Amino acid sequence: MNAHTQTPAIAAPAPLVDPFGRAVSYVRVSVTDRCDFRCVYCMSEHMTFLPRKDLLTLEELDRLCTAFVSRGTKKLRITGGEPLVRHDVMKLFRALSRHLASGELEELTLTTNGSQLARFAGELADCGVKRINVSLDTLDPDRFKALTRTGDLARVLAGVDAALKAGLKVKLNAVALKGGNEDEFIPLVRFAHERGMDMTFIEVMPLGELEGPARVDQYLPMTEVREKLAQAFTLTEIDYRTGGPARYMRAEETGGRVGFITPMTHNFCESCNRVRVTCTGTLYMCLGQEDAADLRAPLRESADDQLLHAAIEEAIRRKPKGHDFIIDRATQAPAVSRHMSMTGG
Ligand code: SAM
Ligand code: SF4
Repeated sequence: MNAHTQTPAIAAPAPLVDPFGRAVSYVRVSVTDRCDFRCVYCMSEHMTFLPRKDLLTLEELDRLCTAFVSRGTKKLRITGGEPLVRHDVMKLFRALSRHLASGELEELTLTTNGSQLARFAGELADCGVKRINVSLDTLDPDRFKALTRTGDLARVLAGVDAALKAGLKVKLNAVALKGGNEDEFIPLVRFAHERGMDMTFIEVMPLGELEGPARVDQYLPMTEVREKLAQAFTLTEIDYRTGGPARYMRAEETGGRVGFITPMTHNFCESCNRVRVTCTGTLYMCLGQEDAADLRAPLRESADDQLLHAAIEEAIRRKPKGHDFIIDRATQAPAVSRHMSMTGG
């Protein structure tokens, strides 16, 4: 073979590493800003959602995720808004499952409020999804209605059952809310552990303007959650990690795991391996900072992915060292103006 006929070796695209040496291996993609719930800590009651034309199509979302996978992303989390209310979202899961089959992607997962899980659990398992996060702040139907404004607890619990039946590992996530679900931390752990699920608690973060209570009146530091749990459980530190920000302990009485996500009291930025993409293709290099990069324009400007890769590389070079959230009486404004439903959890 002479030099002219030889196929030039295509260098594998370099993995994405930020200026602080942290490899970006975990991407959370919000596929919609819409939701069938209006959780009091997440959204206002009257939200204005984005016009559909601004949203990335499912094909564009696939291209975007695939670009990240080719640059070293090992874990993709599909989120929202409520990801399972996006029309035809299973087509995206189906398409992305090819990266699991090829071994390039290690995990495809989602965060959901559970309202549509009974319908989709089997298909998710079929697409190679192994573990999912379901948000559940309370086991009391009236309180559930009050916290979510529109949700039906029985439907979510049926969704959780369906997921377990489909063989999915389920982790329950509860936001710790002062005066909201403080008296339920112990029952939530028992409920989860009786069904073989992990139970994780999250500190409320100052994201987006709300109509309801001030953040400072919602906020409960994780130290207080632990104190409450200690009334019923002996918690032992364990090494278990899932590639996300949660730190886990074992409740000796049940043998189950309890996770703690502490963006406020213990900032975990030094080991951050994540970036987030909104449903309009805006890449946020940090959940708690405003700086972002538009990936929709490069996606739409050309059918090949060169511009997209260049935009991603340029953005990762600007990934900040960390966030510094503050919730106190003097700091009334949110750290960032966008709601959690915009960036995705
Ligand atoms: N709708 C899905 C759900 O609820 O699981 C996925 C999106 S939701 C924005 C993701 C997670 O963010 C949920 O567990 C929710 O409880 C959490 N969340 C929303 N707003 C938050 C806030 N201000 N602080 C902390 N967690 C928040
Ligand atoms: Fe919807 Fe999830 Fe936000 Fe609740 S936390 S309003 S379920 S996006």
